[in-house]
Amino acid sequence: MTPQHTPYERFRANLATAMDLLDLAPAERKSLEEPKNIHRKAIDVAMDDGTKRTFDAFRVQYNDARGPYKGGIRFHPLADEDEVKALAALMAIKTAVAGIPMGGAKGGVQCNPKELSRKELEAVSRAYIRAFADHVGEDIDVPAPDVNTTPQVMAWMRDEYEKAKRTYAPAMITGKPMAYGGSVGRDTATARGGFFILDEYVRSQGLKPEKLRVAIQGFGNAGATMAAFLHEAGYTVAAVSDSKGGIFRERGIDPKRVAEIKAQTGSVAGETDGGRAVTNEELLELPCDILIPAALDNVINGGNAGNIRARTVLELANGPTTPEADAVLEGKGVTVIPDVLANAGGVTVSYFEWCQGRSGEQWTADEVDTKLRRTMLESFRAVREEAAKRKISHRMAAFVVGVGRIVETMKARGWM
Ligand code: NAD
Repeated sequence: MTPQHTPYERFRANLATAMDLLDLAPAERKSLEEPKNIHRKAIDVAMDDGTKRTFDAFRVQYNDARGPYKGGIRFHPLADEDEVKALAALMAIKTAVAGIPMGGAKGGVQCNPKELSRKELEAVSRAYIRAFADHVGEDIDVPAPDVNTTPQVMAWMRDEYEKAKRTYAPAMITGKPMAYGGSVGRDTATARGGFFILDEYVRSQGLKPEKLRVAIQGFGNAGATMAAFLHEAGYTVAAVSDSKGGIFRERGIDPKRVAEIKAQTGSVAGETDGGRAVTNEELLELPCDILIPAALDNVINGGNAGNIRARTVLELANGPTTPEADAVLEGKGVTVIPDVLANAGGVTVSYFEWCQGRSGEQWTADEVDTKLRRTMLESFRAVREEAAKRKISHRMAAFVVGVGRIVETMKARGWM
């Protein structure tokens, strides 16, 4: 496979291997190769200067055999249908690996939120949900935040949906603010889920957290929260970075202090505290035991995979490792815990939010944490068993588990 392949072609390559391993018949394979629905609309928005602008918006629904479609909505100038298709498909794999009763979808609006006023952003959010009101809903398709969309955007969308449908619909969207149907623990869920898996893996290998150095690329929601959990559990967080660069301090950094520095200077690289500044490229190749990409896709690629020194890579970001890098890392015996497993904590707590919206209950932080831990460890166990049984990578094992579960349900429903 060459690096020029599009995200959806990459997904198709992994899907094809998983379907070979599952021995699916040609007709069965066909029903998984393309999304079930691709909805496209041009949405009109009134701008502050009195003009009207039209934005391209879409919602890709890949598979809903196991339950309502589930996946975020991104606002981005380059929101591109091929990428959204791949993300929708990966959501279906992720929800199936997590064992939650939901499918996979993703949406987008081609716009630059940095150029929009708050009022215009609200207008785009409301126009999006009006355009797709018949295709979303608590039993149909449940959106969530993604790149550049926030709990506030989810609140506008829920409000608009409730007005349009003249209904009360707390479970039609997740990632909402606490004041309007959100769940406790959603903000830390992705890192928390990744932490449970990593800690389980470390202990199962007979390793000691206090002897392990971790490098984390990205200090946003996923990366900064993960740094705090690891520090608290006794790991040595030796390197962190953001878009402006990073720091490496062999003896470890205090994530709380780094967060303060970032708040004051705008970057984690504001003060090295006896360590040294590193670029984002250097961070990936540092002498650490565990590497956690938590920012962008494709950062571990054919160009640098040979230089990675960590023995374990935990993918909190979506798609940080290219297929070329996967092959190199596998050859070196590096364990990659893949995105569809490692960052599934976010969608899992989104599912908990949906459950709470449907039942009218409000779970405590302890309840969410206990249920999240159980879900993550159970999916990790299934993936590890599959990997050991078939002697395949954790990424391929996660695909086999996810695709296998979707196929099982499709067969039970008579869809295959
Ligand atoms: P975020 O916007 O909160 O943080 C992103 C971080 O990456 C920031 O610190 C930013 O400075 C940094 N960054 C940007 N460009 C960079 C560069 N060139 N080099 C290094 N760092 C750079 O985003 P997030 O919510 O933490 O998401 C991070 C990744 O995790 C994404 O791939 C996202 O899809 C994935 N993810 C997040 C969630 C979630 O619930 N937040 C769930 C699943 C997956």
